[in-house]
Amino acid sequence: MRILLFGKNGQVGWELNRSLPPLGEVIALGREEADFSQPEALRNIVQAIKPDVIVNAAAYTAVDKAEDEEVLATTVNGDAPGVLAEEAKKLNALLVHYSTDYVFDGKKDTPYTELDEPNPINAYGRSKLAGEESVRLSGCDYLILRTSWVYSDRGDNFLLKIIQLASEKEELNIVDDQRGAPTWARLIAERTAQIILLSTGKREAGIFGPGIYHLVTRDCTTWYELAKQIIKEAERQQDDNLFLVKNINPVSSDEFVTRAKRPKNTCLSVEVMEKKFGIEMPAWAHALKLCFKSMER
Ligand code: NDP
Repeated sequence: MRILLFGKNGQVGWELNRSLPPLGEVIALGREEADFSQPEALRNIVQAIKPDVIVNAAAYTAVDKAEDEEVLATTVNGDAPGVLAEEAKKLNALLVHYSTDYVFDGKKDTPYTELDEPNPINAYGRSKLAGEESVRLSGCDYLILRTSWVYSDRGDNFLLKIIQLASEKEELNIVDDQRGAPTWARLIAERTAQIILLSTGKREAGIFGPGIYHLVTRDCTTWYELAKQIIKEAERQQDDNLFLVKNINPVSSDEFVTRAKRPKNTCLSVEVMEKKFGIEMPAWAHALKLCFKSMER
């Protein structure tokens, strides 16, 4: 199997570059080799490589900045995946594309299912929904995997931010009225590899159907609870407590104003995905523990 991976330097892309090689030959590209702000240029790249599977982990992920750069965000997150999907269709390749919990408006009280109607409330969410739609309408064999609150031991993420802030400040004010599922990038990559393997078999057997699935951890939490758990796990790892932080305070979104509005509840149900692919997602707190364990080595 020939797999073309985009976004190799991102949190998820970097992990995919480790978890996909057992499936076949992986050609991994970063922004330098494939610039998503120039979607048309992606056609030649795909046609030159002729992959069996395209995995797209490249995205414009700066949620606040997207408010001021919605055109660029939409080109990268909306138009470029559409071009990949069209080229996938020409080659009869499978396209695996990632989307976000932020396609939802967050007004639901219970976890969102794949049948719930998206209604993004910020520019990033709109740009990612545009990507879902361009992939869906292309007619290629696709899997759109919606994930949320991604962290890893590299890149720009909440886990590393909290560890840094806890070393610099005595007081941290963290938002406690937004709920979601923190999801370790490695878990996303490993489950994606399983999903690709299964889907490839189904395609060969002529029983594959394209679809959108939720790929997040189980249970939900708030940024405040997550911050507390991160500090707890990090302290467990240290011989001496190197943190300055003494108090972590819950605050409301109104007290912590950001450029982009955030949805209040984006817990995603994983039941359909688990059943469809026969895989299980761990609870978020367990996955966080595994991530810290992996950092010990
Ligand atoms: P990262 O921001 O860690 O990685 C995104 C990658 O995309 C980076 O390597 C970046 O390149 C690349 N990229 C950005 N702009 C361009 C461009 N114009 N051309 C080519 N490459 C570009 O994101 P994640 O790994 O966390 O996200 C993976 C997927 O999951 C994305 O689809 C994202 O929307 C989705 N997702 C992420 C969430 C999160 O919390 N991070 C939450 C929900 C969904 P460079 O390294 O050069 O900057």
